Amino acid sequence: MEQLTSNQEESALMGREKDDEPPSSQLQLIPTLVKSCPPRHVSSPVFKKPRQVNKEALQRTRAFRKHFYPDVTDQDWNSWHWQVRNRICSPVQLERFLNLSLEEQNAFNTLDTKIPLGITPYYMSLLSKDNPEQPLRRTVVPSMHEFFKMPGEENDPLGEEGHSPVHGLVHRYPDRVLLLLNDFCAAFCRYCTRSRMIGSGNIHAGGSRLEKAIEYIRNTPEIRDVLLSGGDPLTLSDKKLDWILARLRAIPHVEIIRIGSKVPAVLPQRVTPQLVRILKKYHPLWMSLHFTHPDECTPEAYKACKLLADGGIPLGSQTVLLKGINDNVDTMKTLMQQLMKMRVKPYYLYQCDPVTGTGHFRTSVDKGLEIIRGLRGHTSGYAVPNYVIDAPGGGGKIPLMPDYVLGRSKDEVLLCNYEDKIYTYPLASEAATICGTGGV
Ligand code: SF4
Repeated sequence: MEQLTSNQEESALMGREKDDEPPSSQLQLIPTLVKSCPPRHVSSPVFKKPRQVNKEALQRTRAFRKHFYPDVTDQDWNSWHWQVRNRICSPVQLERFLNLSLEEQNAFNTLDTKIPLGITPYYMSLLSKDNPEQPLRRTVVPSMHEFFKMPGEENDPLGEEGHSPVHGLVHRYPDRVLLLLNDFCAAFCRYCTRSRMIGSGNIHAGGSRLEKAIEYIRNTPEIRDVLLSGGDPLTLSDKKLDWILARLRAIPHVEIIRIGSKVPAVLPQRVTPQLVRILKKYHPLWMSLHFTHPDECTPEAYKACKLLADGGIPLGSQTVLLKGINDNVDTMKTLMQQLMKMRVKPYYLYQCDPVTGTGHFRTSVDKGLEIIRGLRGHTSGYAVPNYVIDAPGGGGKIPLMPDYVLGRSKDEVLLCNYEDKIYTYPLASEAATICGTGGV
């Protein structure tokens, strides 16, 4: 296991408002540029200098270690096996680190939580001891709200079980499959779409189930893209991952392999040079990383992403829009810009799935659109993710975009830009006029 010395750690731093009369084909198009758009519900974006990769997190983790793990060596702390072995998995353990609020205590006193408790010591070092509303703390510490089921919520809102020809394999789109390798995660997110199964021990990376899944993929030539998820695939051993990837890569029609993981955010120690050496044998291999908040963009996470990116692995991010955690333009912009610095392309912003017990995390769709509007044009285009709803019942991802088209006629389209200024774009016409001098 490569050691992360203090010096190396340091060196790693571096709606639209509805018009009274909606636009129509009768609309008088504005012939020239620039008139203000109608006022919007959105607040003006706040321009702030992006934060540097979170130096405070480094200091916070050091202070945390000194206080709670004074005798743990750097070698142990930076070993992913040590981090997994020492996860915080019970209320008694949790109380050692956090002053629990009444709502948090009641979550343990009332019933067994559906989602297990699991937090790595590293991730625990990023949590606030006293503030139960701190964004990262809310994502991993249970609360009473998990026990309430709101209208429309389901245990399996995406209908994955109904599209599962083999246990743990979801075939919803024609040319790609989702293969769940395990149901174990380094840290369990309280809003998990697969809360019905994570930590249950029903999905494991045993040979016979995986053999059947791989057999299905081998016998289905339309499948050109395999997404490995779970649980978290990167919590498997190097040897097991190597075995699975080799079997998939041996199938001629599998063009790309993707891995979904939250490991760089919650267990960055797992990303070792040895792991990257294994992964890069199986290119083209892509990764979708799950980041939720800028506070996860620590020097450790930065180093993990650098190792993966240096291994030639294209990195994208998946972020779930969560109430009180990342549901404002400023936080989301900071997160997306931090990800870009970590060489991770913001890929999806998900409307939180209506999973049973997640009502306290879900925001309105208007909030998501407001955030996209606050990003588009106000930061690099690469930093703007696709905002999607994964349609309940298995309808797949449906993109949502703020409405930038105000109207159209047969000659022009009326558009509104990121500054709420109005522009027209001339459409191609069949009636052409001669331009130029007509020859020498
Ligand atoms: S890491 Fe992914 S699979 Fe695991 S609990 Fe979080 S959202 Fe669910």
